[in-house]
Amino acid sequence: MNDIKLALLGSEGAGKSAVLVRFLTRRFIGEYASNANSLYRKRLSIDGRQLNLEVFDPCSQSAESRCILEEPVDWADGFIVVYNISDRLSFLSASTILHQIRQARSDTCKGDVGVPIYLVGNKQDLCHARQVCEEEGRALAQENRCLFQEVSAAENYQEIASLFTTLIRLVMEQ
Ligand code: GDP
Repeated sequence: MNDIKLALLGSEGAGKSAVLVRFLTRRFIGEYASNANSLYRKRLSIDGRQLNLEVFDPCSQSAESRCILEEPVDWADGFIVVYNISDRLSFLSASTILHQIRQARSDTCKGDVGVPIYLVGNKQDLCHARQVCEEEGRALAQENRCLFQEVSAAENYQEIASLFTTLIRLVMEQ
């Protein structure tokens, strides 16, 4: 497979655009106008293979906004579901979104083998204001058979780059 399609999902303010922009540009953009659906493209080489990566960053989802979710859920080969470790509501939204992805994809042939998903607890630098402990994130990921990582888009490029690479490798193996 040369085309890889990923979708970033999570509630508003969780840091989806910051995580994506960090991956694409290595920079942290503090204020990023992300009130529209955006599709980003990047050519990558992973394990000697040339890839066309497309990442869909939809305008933010609340737990209730099923209609916004439907488009990327059907389209993507893999997902990054982002919450903010200093915002419990964003964690609850992430839980709902994971459930919705599972429900939507279990009806398709891809769902049977498990669509690759990374659950990401962002804003690790705000640990003094933490509302979601790391163990809760890990447990939610285990329940939903996804990978898990806490990151800080503000402070760390390497962890974000490696989670994208890991997810892309899993998609390539599908
Ligand atoms: P989105 O709505 O999920 O796309 O969230 P944004 O990427 O627009 O980020 C929302 C706000 O959180 C912005 O003010 C960002 O600067 C801030 N932000 C994003 N990631 C981090 C992070 O890792 N640490 C801190 N301290 N702030 C962050």
